[in-house]
Amino acid sequence: MLKNSRDGIHPEKEGEIGPLKQIADLQAQGHPLAYVGDVVGTGSSRKSATNSLLWFMGEDIPHVPNIKSGGVCIGDKIAPIFFNTMEDSGALPLEMDVTGLNTGDVIDIYPREGRVTQSGTDTVLSTFGLKTPVILDEVRAGGRIPLIIGRGLTSKARVALGRDASVADTFRLPDEPNGTPAGYTLAQKMVGQACGVSGVVPGQYCEPAMTTVGSQDTTGPMTRDELKSLACLGFSADLVMQSFCHTAAYPKPVDVVTHHTLPDFIRTRGGVSLRPGDGIIHSWLNRMLIPDTVGTGGDSHTRFPIGISFPAGSGLVAFAGATGVMPLDMPESVLVRFAGEMQPGVTLRDLVQAIPYTAEKMGLLTVAKQGKKNIFSGKILEIEGLPQLKCEQAFELSDASAERSAAGCTIKLDEDPIKEYLQSNVVMLKWMIAEGYGDARTLERRIARMDEWLANPVLLEADSGADYAAVIDINLADIKEPILALPNDPDASATLSDVAGEHIDEVFIGSCMTNIGHFRAAGKLLKEFGAPVPTRLWVCPPTKMDEAQLTSEGYYSIFGTAGARTEMPGCSLCMGNQARVAPKSTVVSTSTRNFPNRLGQGANVYLASAELAAVASILGRLPTADEYRDYMKGVDSTAADTYRYLNFDELPDFVERADSVEISSEMKEAAHRLQCGGN
Ligand code: SF4
Repeated sequence: MLKNSRDGIHPEKEGEIGPLKQIADLQAQGHPLAYVGDVVGTGSSRKSATNSLLWFMGEDIPHVPNIKSGGVCIGDKIAPIFFNTMEDSGALPLEMDVTGLNTGDVIDIYPREGRVTQSGTDTVLSTFGLKTPVILDEVRAGGRIPLIIGRGLTSKARVALGRDASVADTFRLPDEPNGTPAGYTLAQKMVGQACGVSGVVPGQYCEPAMTTVGSQDTTGPMTRDELKSLACLGFSADLVMQSFCHTAAYPKPVDVVTHHTLPDFIRTRGGVSLRPGDGIIHSWLNRMLIPDTVGTGGDSHTRFPIGISFPAGSGLVAFAGATGVMPLDMPESVLVRFAGEMQPGVTLRDLVQAIPYTAEKMGLLTVAKQGKKNIFSGKILEIEGLPQLKCEQAFELSDASAERSAAGCTIKLDEDPIKEYLQSNVVMLKWMIAEGYGDARTLERRIARMDEWLANPVLLEADSGADYAAVIDINLADIKEPILALPNDPDASATLSDVAGEHIDEVFIGSCMTNIGHFRAAGKLLKEFGAPVPTRLWVCPPTKMDEAQLTSEGYYSIFGTAGARTEMPGCSLCMGNQARVAPKSTVVSTSTRNFPNRLGQGANVYLASAELAAVASILGRLPTADEYRDYMKGVDSTAADTYRYLNFDELPDFVERADSVEISSEMKEAAHRLQCGGN
C-alpha cells in the first residue's frame, strides 16, 4: 500500500514497500487512524485494496484471523467500488472536502452531525453528509452483508414470535422514493425489471436479481473464502463464471494452486469455469449475457455491452452469486448522446476518449486530483446515438466507463447487432459443452434463455421524460483526428496534433479494450511496413479463439516479422504486476488505464487506439495527424475485411462441434417460463 511517493507519503522503498514506519509512528500516538485522500481508490479498487487499508486503519475481529473490520476512510471523492467495498467491510467511508485535513492531525468525527473538528475543540475542519443513514447500521453490523442477513433474520424471528415483519423500530431503513418520475432511463428500467417493477429511481435501495456474475483469478480466492463463509454449496445466480486471465501467463506458485483448485470449487456449485490460457474474463462473459438483465463481477471492468453490470468487491460478488441478488442504492445517470457521421481514420477508441475530452470542455470533469470534479463518479453512464455498433464495439465504450469511475454503463443498441451476437454466442456455448467445459447444465440453461430471447427479441428503451444528472452531446463530425489519454491519467485527454512527435519506446496492443478487428488493423499496418519495428511491440489478443483465428489468417507471421513479442491471450501488460514495460519508458497502450507505475515503474503511458499504436510502433514516435491519416487509408479501404468479429455460427469448426449438443426440453421450458414471467 502507498508504495509510490506522493505528497506527505514516504515509502520505505520506492515502488516496493509502503510507509510502514510513518504509519507505525502515527499509530504510536494511540488514536485510531483515519485514511484521508483527495481521490481515494480507483475504478478497480477491490477487496484487496480495502484489506490493505484496514490492516492499518481497522480493528481486529474477535476469533477471526487476518481480516479486520471498522476503520474510517475519508476522501474528496471515493471511487464507487472502493466505497462499496469499504461498506462491505464495516468501515465508515465519508466523502467531504479534505483541504483542511493534513497527515498527523488529530480530529474528532461526528457521524450523525456530519462534521469533523480539530480534536477537543469546536473548530470545524470539514462537513459531510452520509451517503445513506443505513451506513451507521452497516458499521455496527460489521458490514453490509451481515446487516442484510441480520435484518432478514430479525424480520423472520418477529413473525415467528407472532409480531409483524417490520424491523423499522430496530434498524435504519433506506428511504422510500417520493412519487413516480416522469420517465425512467434505460438503466432504471433494466434494474426495475430485475426487481420485478417497471423502474427504480436514483437513491432508491433495491435488490435486483443477478442474472450473470463474473469472478476473475486475482479476486477469485477471496470470493471463494467469502462463499465458504456464506456456506454456499450452490449458486443461486443464474450463471457464475470464473476466469484465469490475470495470472495465467506468468503465474506465481500460489496462482498455480488457484488454477488447480478453483475450477472445481466453482463447477461443483453450478458455476462455469474457464481454463488458464483461455483469455480475458470480459471477452468470454459478455458472450454469455442475456439482453437487459443485471449482473456483477469482481473485476471493475465487468461492464456489460448489453444489459447492465455493477462491479463489486469479492464479498458482494460472493453474496450475489450465492443468493442471486445484490444490494444496490440506485445511482443517478449521465446521458452521453452521439450524433452525426464518423470521420475517416477516427476509431471507436477515439470516441471513448471523446467522452472525458468533451466533459472537461463542459466543465463537468477536471484532471487535477485536488478538488477534482467528475460528473461520472458513482453514476451510470448511459450512451445513445450509436445503435448499429456490434456488441464487441459497444464493449469498448462500456468497458471504459470504469475509467470514468462510473458505477455502471448502458448502451442503447438496435435489435440486429444483439441478435447477431446471441446467434454467435449460442454456438460458442454449445461448443464449450462439447469441449468439456462445465457446469454443463448452467451452460445449457443459458443457451435455452438465449434461444428464448431470440425467438421473441424485445429490448427495453429509456422513456422520453427520463431525467439525467447531465447530458453530454458529442457530434462525430467534430472529431476529426485521434484523441489520446495523456500520461498518466485516463481523464487527461489531447488530440493527436497536440502530442505529435513524442518519442515512443514501447507499444502494447492488447487488453479487454481490444477485439479481433484491432489486431487485423494493426497487422495490416505492420505488413505494409514489412520489417522489424524500432520499438518494443507487445501483442496480446483477448482470447484463444482470437489467437487461433489470427494465426489462421496469417497475422501471427506478420507480428513475427515485425519483431513483436506475442503474449498468451489474457490481460498481459494491462494487469500491471505481471510482465512490465521498461522503467521510465514512454509507451502507447491500448489498455484500459494508465495510472502512474501501472505498466512499468516511472513509465509514461499514452492510451490510444490499436491503429494509432501500430503506427507509433512503426515510427518510434507519435505521428502527425496527416501521417496517421495516410497510414489509415489502407485500413479504411479494407474496413469490411478488417473489422469482422468472431461470429462462431459462421466458423465451421465451432458449428460442427456445437451441432453435437442438444438442449433438453426441461431447460427450454424453464427458459420459456422465465421469459414470460420477466427476469
Ligand atoms: S485486460 Fe486489464 S482491465 Fe481488462 S480485465 Fe484484464 S487487467 Fe482488467
